[in-house]
Amino acid sequence: MKKRTSAFALLLGVILTLASCSGGGEAKVLRVGTNPEFPPFEYIDNDGQVAGFDADLIEAVAAKKGYTVSWANMEFKSLIGSLESGGIDVAIAGMTITETRKASVDFTEPYYDASQALVLPVGSPITTIDELNGKKIAVQEGTTGDLMVTPGGEGAILTDPATAVSRYKKGVDAILTLLNGAVDAVVIDATPAAEFVKANQGKIFASPVAGEPEQYGIAVGKGNSALLADLNDGLNQIRLDGTYDKLYNQYFGTGETTVVRRTSTNPFMDFIYQLEFIFVTNNGAYLMLQGLGVTLLISFFAILLGTGLGFPTATVRMAARVKGKKTLGSVLADIYVDVIRGTPTVVQLLIMYMVIFNSRAGTIAAILTFGINSGAYVSEIVRSGIQAVDKGQTEAGRSLGFTYNETMRYIVMPQAVKNILPALGNEFITLIKETSIVGYVAIMDLTKAGDFLISRTYNAFIPLITVAIVYYLLIKVLTTLLGLFERRLNRSDNR
Ligand code: GLN
Repeated sequence: MKKRTSAFALLLGVILTLASCSGGGEAKVLRVGTNPEFPPFEYIDNDGQVAGFDADLIEAVAAKKGYTVSWANMEFKSLIGSLESGGIDVAIAGMTITETRKASVDFTEPYYDASQALVLPVGSPITTIDELNGKKIAVQEGTTGDLMVTPGGEGAILTDPATAVSRYKKGVDAILTLLNGAVDAVVIDATPAAEFVKANQGKIFASPVAGEPEQYGIAVGKGNSALLADLNDGLNQIRLDGTYDKLYNQYFGTGETTVVRRTSTNPFMDFIYQLEFIFVTNNGAYLMLQGLGVTLLISFFAILLGTGLGFPTATVRMAARVKGKKTLGSVLADIYVDVIRGTPTVVQLLIMYMVIFNSRAGTIAAILTFGINSGAYVSEIVRSGIQAVDKGQTEAGRSLGFTYNETMRYIVMPQAVKNILPALGNEFITLIKETSIVGYVAIMDLTKAGDFLISRTYNAFIPLITVAIVYYLLIKVLTTLLGLFERRLNRSDNR
């Protein structure tokens, strides 16, 4: 039993070491958090990298001060919390400097003058923001636009409590809701609004909101004055040497940055153009393949880890039950299975990534989460598989003079395997599909790639159906293989 306990200790050790290696980092790496869903300030480019005005700006500032940038993508509303917990050093995300935010973080000098805009469907009778009282509005959660239309919030303009505000994690999702006709308006920063309008010409338009002007600043953890001074100095340097103006013209000049797709009045041709726009122009085919690779990678290692954990866990727990004596290993194993089965996987993933890994090394965090999660279920599968073997088999073994362990190994296990394998196959299938939540921790898997393409193309149907088909085919291949394997096992049975 000693060995089993040390296996758990070893696992714990591995987790902690992985967490701390990936967390160590060199002094000169600047961990920059953003929400790359806010064009032209930050978005993901065709190679899956963070790009945009903010991205180029911080890279230039960092270079001036001898830092290299490492990106952490997250929801907009998580940025401040992440600065506070030390998961990131800097947040740049078109973030408006507000009094409330200044209570939690420090801002550099402003680097961009902004304002809010209404995005309305073409033909909308609405002209001012006050007319939105009591109407349906979509916003990006936690932004200044959200506060403006939420009665009672900081800087709120609307007062009617009947106003229905739907909050989305991304501006694009709010725009999609508007395009679907489900809300009357979107309130969002004017510059991204113009970008969204450009991509959906003839369907929506933007109209400025008369209100307090806003300014964007780069945020750092409260009291991090050394870093703040570095950033302010870097900002100053790039203003002086012309880099700032160059970037400003590049992103906000008259040059066309938004690629608009070809359209046709022939529905079939239009569909083909849509496919071209999604899979070729926006590099969707490549991104989805890459996402599929990530899904497979995470699933594969999680299955290995889960199986590796599940068998010893089941053995330790069952041995304790049969012998009527609990050991440290069996108690730990009981707690493990109980806790994992009693909590949602997505919560486990968030704890692993945000708490244990401090928002670093997402893929490793995901493999560990799904592996540990699956291990608990595998252990239950193994247990019920063993219990399904007739008791007489154990009794026969014991009366022949075999020890408990020998009986298990030579008599019970070979029979149990046939009960276990089909259920194990099911567990693998479930696991592959469950990994589709890794987008929560900014990993670009297959599902997230589809989600990303929706943001880029304003088309939800084609990317989502494609993602569904790819998962379906993947699972189909796996079930076929498992079926073949099972049939082989049965053949040996009939001999
Ligand atoms: N400027 C807005 C804010 O700070 C929106 C920023 C964003 O959505 N990235 O709240």
